[in-house]
Amino acid sequence: MLVLGIESSCDETGVALVDADGPGVPRLLAHALHSQIEMHQAYGGVVPELASRDHIRRVLPLARQVLADSGRALAQVDVVAYTRGPGLAGALLVGAGAACALAAALGRPVLGVHHLEGHLLSPFLSADPPEFPFVALLVSGGHTQLMRVDGVGRYELLGETIDDAAGEAFDKSAKLLGLGYPGGPQLARMAEFGDATAFDLPRPLLHSGTLDFSFAGLKTAVWTQARKLGTEVCEQDRANLAAATQAAIVEVLLKKSLKALQSTGLKRLVVAGGVGANRALREQLNTACARRGVRVHYPELSLCTDNGAMIALAAAMRLQAGRAEARRDYAFDVKPRWDLAAV
Ligand code: ATP
Ligand code: MG
Ligand code: FE
Repeated sequence: MLVLGIESSCDETGVALVDADGPGVPRLLAHALHSQIEMHQAYGGVVPELASRDHIRRVLPLARQVLADSGRALAQVDVVAYTRGPGLAGALLVGAGAACALAAALGRPVLGVHHLEGHLLSPFLSADPPEFPFVALLVSGGHTQLMRVDGVGRYELLGETIDDAAGEAFDKSAKLLGLGYPGGPQLARMAEFGDATAFDLPRPLLHSGTLDFSFAGLKTAVWTQARKLGTEVCEQDRANLAAATQAAIVEVLLKKSLKALQSTGLKRLVVAGGVGANRALREQLNTACARRGVRVHYPELSLCTDNGAMIALAAAMRLQAGRAEARRDYAFDVKPRWDLAAV
């Protein structure tokens, strides 16, 4: 079964082809990605209307590239999958429209999938895929959640952020430090040269006793510190503040993940979403988990942020597990707001 997946929920257009023959983990045949980051940089964030228009320009050329790279013909595609939500409504509509038009032309069924389920399952495409059940730490630009995952479509929310997401905390702090958009990776690079102990930043909800997160207060604390430094701030101070910010975010993510592992008794952790690319987070999770006999799984670095591969994969795994049905119903709709636990 060949599944073509299309991702267009935000500022990345992604297309991929996976092969799901037999019961094993689907195999990624090819994927192609276009990031709009440069286009949005001038505005300091994603401009929804520009995003939609660019998805329109990119989606078919990317699909052609994926078919060429995989050596498959469009007519060989069995199912077309797309991101149904959550995300920007206009951006989602482009992927959904393209997927349904392709499927209708081919007479093949379509399946809309949940973007976060894509992130969550993306480590299955890595060289060291996980096994169910596991605790998932989902840390992306829009979400921060801890979940108990017992199988495809069997997700129990253990805790989540009550305000900003971890990726948002990285990006907003980076902006306060004068870094470009999206600042997460830049802040992480800058932090390498900083001394995290130079600033004392809060660890919101660290001892709340729950598995919930809060990052809005941290952003305010970074703002206060950045203002104190003033405009004549030297590079070392900025690097120190970047390091302190990263340390605060990573410590909360680490401690809450360990708490979730302890309370569920599970010995497996899956980290997914853009912040999962953070090196400090990976190092600290690896060390702490090794000490506790817990195995940690990550997506390949290139598949941490948005991509089409995770969407094709999520669709294929759902179909394999019998937890979704692809339909020849091309009257698509999208769900800009959509709770993963409700899927
Ligand atoms: P969602 O999936 O919740 O809709 P999204 O798709 O925008 O949000 P992702 O693409 O998964 O989120 O991740 C993007 C986020 O990851 C951004 O906030 C970015 O700053 C952050 N990020 C990427 N790499 C790193 C890194 N090395 N360190 C810290 N943050 C990072
Ligand atoms: Mg993005
Ligand atoms: Fe995402």
